[in-house]
Amino acid sequence: MSSVASLGRPLESLRLGPGYSALGERFIELRDPSPLPDPYLIAFNPEVAALLDFDPREAQRPEFLRLVAGNARFGPIPSFAAVYAGHQFGSFVPQLGDGRAITLGEIENGAGARYEWQLKGAGMTAFSRFGDGRAVLRSTIREYLASEALHHLGIPTTRALAIAGSDEPVYRESVETAAVLSRVAPSHVRFGSFEFFHYRGRFAEVKELADYTITRFYPELLDVPEPERYATLLREIVERTAQLVARWQAVGFAHGVLNTDNMSVLGLTLDYGPYGFIETYDAHFVCNHSDDAGRYAFDRQPGIALWNCRALAAALESLVSKERADEVLTAYEPAYRDAYLTLMRGKLGLREVRDADAALIEDLFDVMEAAHADFSTFFRALSQLSVTSTPYDDVVANFFQNRAQWYEWQQRYRERLAAESAGDVARGPAMLRVNPLYVLRNHLAQAAIEAAQLRDYSELERLHAVLRAPFDEQPGCERYASAPPIGTAAIEVSCSS
Ligand code: AMP
Ligand code: MG
Repeated sequence: MSSVASLGRPLESLRLGPGYSALGERFIELRDPSPLPDPYLIAFNPEVAALLDFDPREAQRPEFLRLVAGNARFGPIPSFAAVYAGHQFGSFVPQLGDGRAITLGEIENGAGARYEWQLKGAGMTAFSRFGDGRAVLRSTIREYLASEALHHLGIPTTRALAIAGSDEPVYRESVETAAVLSRVAPSHVRFGSFEFFHYRGRFAEVKELADYTITRFYPELLDVPEPERYATLLREIVERTAQLVARWQAVGFAHGVLNTDNMSVLGLTLDYGPYGFIETYDAHFVCNHSDDAGRYAFDRQPGIALWNCRALAAALESLVSKERADEVLTAYEPAYRDAYLTLMRGKLGLREVRDADAALIEDLFDVMEAAHADFSTFFRALSQLSVTSTPYDDVVANFFQNRAQWYEWQQRYRERLAAESAGDVARGPAMLRVNPLYVLRNHLAQAAIEAAQLRDYSELERLHAVLRAPFDEQPGCERYASAPPIGTAAIEVSCSS
């Protein structure tokens, strides 16, 4: 077989279908992207091109740039913006929607997987409200990098295909420039998509949307008779959500804006704004500086996600009785706890399950917090702790001023390790496979953004490459693994994007 054929297909041969827009105009507005003036390609991700089955060399064609800038149509399929509602910071907003995201359609790859191709920042839609329909280069780079970083950490997320940029000015806290992010996901349906119809009393559409979600993404539920089918859908979403949040907590990821319109019915991380990876450990870390009350603080994420699942259950009330929904919602906490404890045991190199593990883990975070330990660096270092060395020469002790607290915890940890029936074998390498060396620290993203704003995309590419293999030591990349230099730690991230 020629290497050309194995690389994928030309753009023109991609099969683009209507996807979600087949539900009709009650669910979407048909809308073309607004052309982006004099666009240029800023980033391209061949991994996602491969998902869509197209040849990565296609990205060099002007046709590709026109497509990702929103300056050309993709065949006869009309593009669209979807309507939704949502609870934002606890208050219900009856009408939101894709105010700046336009979906070109849905591509089915050769393996039968389907992906919506969405342009974020592609101009105004019927749902733009007071916005300009645009995204700035800074925020598209942040989403591009974070979604790829999370994917490579094994966390379900939308993926990023490309960024098109332009010199067109966009007005935020200061003047920035416009960019369009191409992102893909099997679906961008949100909890808020259901809320939109429920709170208008449009229960037929709630059912249509639930049927669409089941047929496309949970087809095994078609074997479950109604009405239990919808309760099972709710349970699946609740469980996926619990597992998603457990994964965030285990890598120290704070989403920042966990409104119900940013919650995916597929359990994907969706809509990256003022997110942050924890560096100096602080359970109450708030990455979004507009979140004065700390509603979306790091340690509140598990509870908030449950709150959001309750909001989804309320929006499904016409399909799932309140009593049944309450029963289903009780699955959240055990699902979260199981997933979280499993991940945390892995991070600590524990293979077996012991009752006291939850307390051991909880107390570790207290110790880390008191010591202002860097989240990711700390867990990597912990892999080097030996059960046999004296407590006074362990490598991790350097993290602590108050060593007494550390020695007390690590004594318990050593005893716990010694209690594993296989003994303390190959723990270090196993821990290094689940504790990332490289996470997307704010100062790293910021350096890539500042270079890109000067039209130098090399740092963006380098950082993206590092984040593609977050568990592997990459020679020459030491600085990507360290806590930020003094003075850069406090980059505040706002909602404006
Ligand atoms: P987000 O905080 O990015 O999840 O957005 C919340 C809502 O505001 C969504 O309905 C977005 O489509 C909309 N939105 C955000 N930024 C803009 C913008 N610049 N123009 C139009 N709508 C926007
Ligand atoms: Mg959103």
